[in-house]
Amino acid sequence: MSKQRLEGKVAIVTGGASGIGAETVRLFVENGAFVVIADVNDELGLQVATSIGLDNVSYHHCDVRDEKQVEETVAFAVDKYGSLDIMFSNAGIGGSNSSILDLDLNDLDNTVAVNVRGAAACIKHAARVMVERKTRGSIICTASTASMVGQEAAGHGYTTSKHGLLGLVRSACGELGAYGIRVNAISPYVVATPLSCGVLGLEASEVESAGAVDANLQGIVLKPIHIAEAALFLASDQSAYISGHNLPVDGGLLAVNRSVA
Ligand code: NAD
Repeated sequence: MSKQRLEGKVAIVTGGASGIGAETVRLFVENGAFVVIADVNDELGLQVATSIGLDNVSYHHCDVRDEKQVEETVAFAVDKYGSLDIMFSNAGIGGSNSSILDLDLNDLDNTVAVNVRGAAACIKHAARVMVERKTRGSIICTASTASMVGQEAAGHGYTTSKHGLLGLVRSACGELGAYGIRVNAISPYVVATPLSCGVLGLEASEVESAGAVDANLQGIVLKPIHIAEAALFLASDQSAYISGHNLPVDGGLLAVNRSVA
């Protein structure tokens, strides 16, 4: 199979300045895509674009909570590269992981605003352009294992937001299939990035060790590249008939119930 699985395709990667997003930007570009990194961290976003150092990656400031900025980012991608084929709505925040007894509802609102409202804006404006231009596009959202089960360590606002995101992916898939647009989710288990280190209050190596102890699949540590590879598959024509799917990248963790009773 050719390495260039996204030859000539145009992608936006939100949250592309760090972690899973930055790794995906590199993999998409390596596979022939033109990529717009959309993020609030201008310094890191520009660093990632510069480190790739090709004409086919750009940085555009975008706070996904602000619909206007999302709309402008989509317009920027279309103006610069001529179309929009892939929206990787990946930007997310962890929020607080306090007890429900001390739940800060403003923090929950902000987590939902980034993780759900932001994704809704990305799906809406990507889909508008794809429908208008008759592009059979691929929209992918980064959900979480916390989209499927309650995860104490992840926090209530985060878990709530990621469950909601999965609902959004499924409802959008139902409507956009009529236009040949696919909408899917990826649900990673814990992977060491600034987000997970912040939520868990651990160093990257400690996050990896903790994840490896809990994991179902032993002998391999989950890295951002494993999630980027899943995004590449869902972005490419290799997944042409896959829509409305949630692809866990969790080593089978949630497929197994290890309790004895
Ligand atoms: P990260 O902190 O490395 O990257 C997140 C990026 O999103 C950052 O560049 C940040 O600046 C950007 N961002 C934050 N708020 C934004 C906003 N309002 N608008 C635009 N960009 C914004 O974290 P990551 O772990 O790579 O997270 C990527 C996605 O993966 C998130 O949706 C996260 O919930 C999800 N996820 C992460 C893990 C994990 O263990 N790291 C597990 C499951 C799911």
